[in-house]
Amino acid sequence: MTDIILKNFELLDPEIGELKSGYEILISGGEIKKVVKGKIKYRKANVYDLSSCTLMPGLIDCHVHVTSLKLRWAMNSLQQILPSYATAITLDKLRRCVLRGFTTVRDTAGADVGHREIMRSGLFPGPRLFVSGRAISQTGGHADMRSRVDHSDPCNCFHMIGSLSGGMGRIADGIAEVRRAVRDEIRLGVDQIKVMASGGVGSPADPIHFLQYSMEELSAIVEEAERADTYAMAHAYTSAAISRALKAGVRTIEHGNFIDEETANFMVEKKAYLVPTLVAYHMISKHGKELGYPEESIAKNKNVLKIGANSLKIAKEAGVKIAFGTDLMGELDIYQSDEFIIRSKILTNAEVIRSATIVGAEVLRMEGRLGIITPGAFADLIVVEGNPLEDLNLLTGQGKYLAAIMKDGQFLKNNFKKL
Ligand code: ZN
Ligand code: ZN
Repeated sequence: MTDIILKNFELLDPEIGELKSGYEILISGGEIKKVVKGKIKYRKANVYDLSSCTLMPGLIDCHVHVTSLKLRWAMNSLQQILPSYATAITLDKLRRCVLRGFTTVRDTAGADVGHREIMRSGLFPGPRLFVSGRAISQTGGHADMRSRVDHSDPCNCFHMIGSLSGGMGRIADGIAEVRRAVRDEIRLGVDQIKVMASGGVGSPADPIHFLQYSMEELSAIVEEAERADTYAMAHAYTSAAISRALKAGVRTIEHGNFIDEETANFMVEKKAYLVPTLVAYHMISKHGKELGYPEESIAKNKNVLKIGANSLKIAKEAGVKIAFGTDLMGELDIYQSDEFIIRSKILTNAEVIRSATIVGAEVLRMEGRLGIITPGAFADLIVVEGNPLEDLNLLTGQGKYLAAIMKDGQFLKNNFKKL
């Protein structure tokens, strides 16, 4: 692979939230080798003049579900469609995701190591994937998709791809079962463990405020994850659910819409991350009905939407680290970048960009490698026609304001000619 030099751009540094002029960067072997103020000397390289556009790190979304194919089947796509067909749709979703500028995503239930490796191989375009396999859920928890009239026994089908929740979750109750479930996901090579620690919107039998799992079970899940050198993230909406998860040692809190000040302070104390997913509630409310989302879930969604972006306000004031997440199921994934706009009502543009770069990298435990343009980082970059620190709309529109997208040193989109 020939080295690449990029010149004539404004460098967006998410850490300080400013543009820096007069830099050039050298990319070699998929990595950023040099970031130099002034000119880089070279013998042989492909050189691109970025015509004063903004160069910034590729975006990171810490909460997606790339195997959720239709909103109507939100949590159980694989019960509705053959895995072969599902994979094709998922690959198309991943392609469109990277073209929006997301060069890394953390799948928070559904995607497996196969998906991650396809992305790694470069065989199909898409973001880097950090996968969770199947989320661990108690009976009647957020990944138990049986309705209240369903008396079937889930016991024998956990290991099948078309399992109870269609590949998105697995049910485990009691210390022994949760340990086995986590160990099994780790055996299957996941990057992190997802646990359902409260009721949720998309599941039929558990109101949002339900607290899921005993403290002993939650602690066992975290312990198994940590012994395998990873961490647990928890789906949790209320302060009570968040505090329990934190006490058990969970590192990232997903959603967290009903967080209060006290719990936000506890998050800071525990050095935990909050991954709000506000766009999901907006889009379910706008498009849920027409896309066949179940009525009881639309009703639950209304309650979550009501609290608005309160969680952002409270978390920001307490100093909680906030990462970028979207949680858009099925066809709603096209609204992924609208989360930027929703957040900008509460946070500054620089804070929003930081959440989708540097903080995202911290969540993934990839500081210095992702979400930053520095020597030694992966060459995951986007080139924006304008300054997103002034106008976050430049990150919306399905990538139409992105003049170039690079992952691993390879252009996935490039409107510039070689000099
Ligand atoms: Zn969730
Ligand atoms: Zn989710």
